[in-house]
Amino acid sequence: MLAYQHAYHAGNAADVHKHALLSVMLARLTDKPKPLWYCETHAGRGLYALDSAEARKTGEAAAGIERALAAGWFAPDHPYLHALQAVRAQAGPAAYPGSPLIAATLLRPDDRMVLAELHPAEHAALSDCLAHRAEVSRSDGAALALARTPPTPRRGVMLIDPSYELRGDYAAMPRLLADLHRKWNVGVLALWYPVLEGPEASHRAMTAALLAAGYPKLLHSEVRFAPARPGHRMVGSGLFVVNAPFGLAEEAARLEALFAAR
Ligand code: SAM
Repeated sequence: MLAYQHAYHAGNAADVHKHALLSVMLARLTDKPKPLWYCETHAGRGLYALDSAEARKTGEAAAGIERALAAGWFAPDHPYLHALQAVRAQAGPAAYPGSPLIAATLLRPDDRMVLAELHPAEHAALSDCLAHRAEVSRSDGAALALARTPPTPRRGVMLIDPSYELRGDYAAMPRLLADLHRKWNVGVLALWYPVLEGPEASHRAMTAALLAAGYPKLLHSEVRFAPARPGHRMVGSGLFVVNAPFGLAEEAARLEALFAAR
């Protein structure tokens, strides 16, 4: 039973961290005139409305994208801002692009996109949004990722962004990354996770396992922020990137400094 719906959290502080780094990664990789394969294991619905009942119920975008825009975190030529503005020009000023729509905006026509989303309503919305551009599959993301790697072309990026609804997800992610890296050693693998507070901070064993695994060109970026509501356990956002593209570490350091200073 899938309960998580990203519409309640779209544009929050964790999205700003994850989506800004994803955008810079894609901008660097599309600099070279070679085709790219892009895959998401947990895609979400692609397009969100920050004035929807779900988004207004939590108000999380106020401390996320709205605050970052007001503070001028992103220069006019930043690819995240470019994707946001391109989507807003089409879908209106309250629109917010999820990761697959950001990717669709930044990738070139010859780059292939494969997206997995298991929730029926999220899958239907994602199909409405991106079936004209991507292969949209209602399947388990890990199974799809393993079935499709190594891809053609071999140059590519995979974003793994689970909702961590199942406790077993934290233990499963290091195994999934190891299996994917074994099959596709040149792939850029990006894994997002929530930084949790409290005695049951399940992400800690996962991050320790990933740091010990000896991945090449590993980027590990974590930022902290105030919980969205009193008692909410997510107090930060983390991203691991295996085979991180050149220049990503600088953007991660810039974002970490901005989050730390606010
Ligand atoms: N990546 C999106 C973004 O940044 O815009 C957000 C994705 S949201 C955190 C996680 C999504 O994974 C949810 O829409 C959920 O329905 C979906 N999901 C959960 N378990 C899944 C699975 N085993 N395979 C594919 N999708 C899954």
